[in-house]
Amino acid sequence: MDAADRADDVIQGAVDRALENHARRPTGRQCTDGGVVICCDCEEPIDLRRLAAVPTATRCAGCQGVAER
Ligand SMILES: [Zn+2]
Repeated sequence: MDAADRADDVIQGAVDRALENHARRPTGRQCTDGGVVICCDCEEPIDLRRLAAVPTATRCAGCQGVAER
């Protein structure tokens, strides 16, 4: 095995771990307040219809629109 092969293994290992963590904690980065998912920007509860459509949403529709602008 040469250095390039080893580097590929290291990268692949990191990718595998990242994917595992993501699968384990799909909503790990959402902001919550007392069990309610809130917008990480304005801290208002995220609309339940939005959460149903985008379960991993971290912002309300309004702040997401601003963030993407
Ligand atoms: Zn917001």
